Parts: sequence; structure tokens; C-alpha cells
Amino acid sequence: MNLKNLIDSKKNGKDISESDIESLINAFLNNKINDKSMTVFLKAVQTHGMTIKETIALTNAMINSGERIKFTASDNYIADKHSTGGVGDKVSLILGPLLAAGGLTIPMLAGRSLAHTGGTIDKLETIPGFQTNLSTKDFKNNVEEIGICIMSQTDSICPADKKMYALRDVTDTINSVPLICGSIMSKKIAEGIDGLVLDIKIGNGAFMKTIDQGIELGSALQKIGKTFDVKTDVVYSSMDQPLGKTAGMWCEVKESIEALKGKGASDLMHVVFELGSKLLLQAGISNDPTTAVSIQKDLIASGKAYNKFEDMVCQQKGSINRVNKIHSPKYEQIIFAHESGFIEEMDSLNIGWATVELGCGRKAKSDILDPSAGIDFIYKIGDEVKMGDPIFKCFNSNEQKLLSATKLLNDSIKIGPSQVNHSLFF
Ligand code: URA
Repeated sequence: MNLKNLIDSKKNGKDISESDIESLINAFLNNKINDKSMTVFLKAVQTHGMTIKETIALTNAMINSGERIKFTASDNYIADKHSTGGVGDKVSLILGPLLAAGGLTIPMLAGRSLAHTGGTIDKLETIPGFQTNLSTKDFKNNVEEIGICIMSQTDSICPADKKMYALRDVTDTINSVPLICGSIMSKKIAEGIDGLVLDIKIGNGAFMKTIDQGIELGSALQKIGKTFDVKTDVVYSSMDQPLGKTAGMWCEVKESIEALKGKGASDLMHVVFELGSKLLLQAGISNDPTTAVSIQKDLIASGKAYNKFEDMVCQQKGSINRVNKIHSPKYEQIIFAHESGFIEEMDSLNIGWATVELGCGRKAKSDILDPSAGIDFIYKIGDEVKMGDPIFKCFNSNEQKLLSATKLLNDSIKIGPSQVNHSLFF
């Protein structure tokens, strides 16, 4: 494998062979190719794309760079979900325990905040004591014992992705369909799952701004799933406004607890039930979407879903005994409506960057997050407001950062005369 030839092939529209891709990934992982040269390759892929055959070879090489988990102890359906990322997207925190309570086995490798979007791992780490950095053995044991474990990516599972992802993050090469596909699917396939549901977010607060971009990604992800014998369903959901009532750190865990206790916001629960239904159908636990939704509602109403969340927290050494006493923010600021009318648009990208400003995301790798930080959404698209009504409440424990966030939030909604309808799914 000669890197220069490989890059030239990519630039000239020639396919790269499976063995060259495997050698390239291994050479990068073993420091035989430096970051600068790898960046040239990543940029060539970003500009010229990859065929599905190359993308599958890339996925395979990343899976083979580490351990691949095998669950043999039970016959339960093993499944996971993945979202392409959004603002206020706390679905994993609810759906994981909910489906585990329903008899599915959920080994979930989750991510940290990326750009303006929140990360499941950062949110879970606001639970005092909660461990997200486990060995593969402990991860597997937890999953086998209680049916679920959510942890961050380690050095043992897909280490090539871990190294490539870190490089992509600082070289502006995140936004490439084949690279995203390889990265997401390698980790999911290495978890040893039978089935997967993907929530592809579309809209102003998503990485995919249009449904066409979403479909391009979704169909590539499904083809990879099929190749590796992982049943893969795709849901396209809107990120034209934040999901649920909050976006941030501990506040999202608190909202998820409320949701698991039956008090979830309707948009949030729609997405949870839609994704959950796909996996219950895949697993053969239900035969139609209506029953699948009823099963999920019953699991919440009976307390089983919340109990499973508590089991997971306990298993991962966390403690949520006094929920209302955890991470009280020192400062808060209300943003008021400048005029009367209906909320027509929410700039979810701006709102996402406001959460980063508050301390929920990183502008530099070394940034330390503020677990008390977040935003409450008092109104959403389609709601009627009067001038002076509170629209957002934002909070954190750093006054300077609160001020910068409120500046961003002041320009984040459009109020107009028409009561627009916001559709949740495409
Ligand atoms: N999430 C991932 O795991 N990888 C990507 O490349 C993008 C989102």
C-alpha cells in the first residue's frame, strides 16, 4: 500500500481495494502514517466520496481494529439505537432502559457532545458516581446481568475509529457520508447486535440540513447493516426545534427520569415510541406498530422502565437519590418574547451553540463541562405567545458564560402571525 497512490486513485475517481483500505487503517492505527498524511486522505474522501463497496471495506477494517463482542448467554434480541445528533435529544437515556425492561438486550456505546449537539455520555456523567469508562468485560457482564449498559467508546472496541474520529474532529472532516457511515456502523456492529434503529435528524439544528442528505446517509447505513447481517431501520425526524422541554446536561437526565415516570413531553415521547416500535417489531415482540406503542406505554405506566433505569445507574455506580438537590445552577436568566404572535421558527443551531456557551459542549478538547447548565424551552413552534412572555430559561454556574449564551438566544426564535404546523417525521 502506497499512500500517495491511494490518494491519487481517490482523486482520479478510481476505486481503492479492500486490502489497501485495511492496510491504510492498520498503518494509521499503528502510527505508521502520521496525522498530516491521514488528513490528506480524509480530505480526499470528503471531496470525492467513496463507493458503497469502499465504505463497507472501511467499516470492516475499523471493526477488525479491535474486539468484537459476542453475546451467547441468552436468546434475547440484542439491539441498539443511534442518533445523528441534535439539541435536547435525550432519547437514548429513555429508550435504552425502556426496551431493556421490555426484554431486549441493549449494549450501547454512546458519544460525547459534538459541535453544537449534546452527548449521551456527557449527560450520564452528571449522575454522581456514574461510570462510563468500562472494560469490554465489565460492559458485557453488565449487559448480561441487567439487559443494558451505556458506556463511552474505549481503546479496545474500534480503536481505529477512535483515533480517526479525534483527527476528523480537528481537521473539519466530520461531514462526509462514507466516513460517518464507517464510524457509526463499525462501533454498532462491534457491539454484537442483531438489530439497530437509526434516528437521522434533519433540519436547522442537525448535521443533515435536508431530507435528501438524510436519505443519502440513511440508505448507505442500511446497506452496511445488511452486509453485516444487522437488521437496520431508519427513522427521519425533525431537528427544526429542540426535542422535549430542555437541552443541556443534568437537566436532560432529569427530564428523562420524568419521561420514564410517565411525564414526558409529547414530541419527545413520539420519537421514543417510533424508534422503540421499530426494534420491538424487529425483535418479534410485537407484530404491529400500534401494539408496539402500547407495550412501551405499559412498561412506563407499570414503573418497569424507570426501575430498569435505576438498575442501570446502580450497576454503573451512580446515585440519584435526591434528584432535585443535584447540580442546582448558581445563575439563571429568562429570555422574553419581543412581540405577540405564534412561534414560527426556532433556530436550533443557535440554541445548540448557546448550550455550548453555557458549558454543555466543548470548543476545545480540554474544556470542562458544567453539569448544572442548560435551557428550558417554555414554548415551542406553533405555540401562541404574548409580548413579554418568558420563552427560554437558561441556567448555569458561570455568570460570564450565561451572558454570552443569552445574547445568542435573543435571536433564536421567529414570532409571526401564522400558527405553523411542525411535523416531527419525514
Ligand atoms: N457519530 C459517530 O460515531 N461518528 C461520526 O462520524 C459521526 C457521528
